Amino acid sequence: MSNETRAALGKCPICKQPAQAEFRPFCSRGCRDRDLMQWFGEGYALPGAHPAELDDEPEEKDDF
Ligand SMILES: [Zn+2]
Repeated sequence: MSNETRAALGKCPICKQPAQAEFRPFCSRGCRDRDLMQWFGEGYALPGAHPAELDDEPEEKDDF
């Protein structure tokens, strides 16, 4: 039994519901509009988006 129905449309990035072909990649017009509103309202700046996500991990140095 495969419970994986065709997931070609993916999930709605707004509410994580299965996307509908008519509104893909969103699940509904509401979510699509909400995404548009975010773009118009926030511009390109996404809250919590860091331009550079660099982790300075201490590298193990090999003694030679
Ligand atoms: Zn949605």
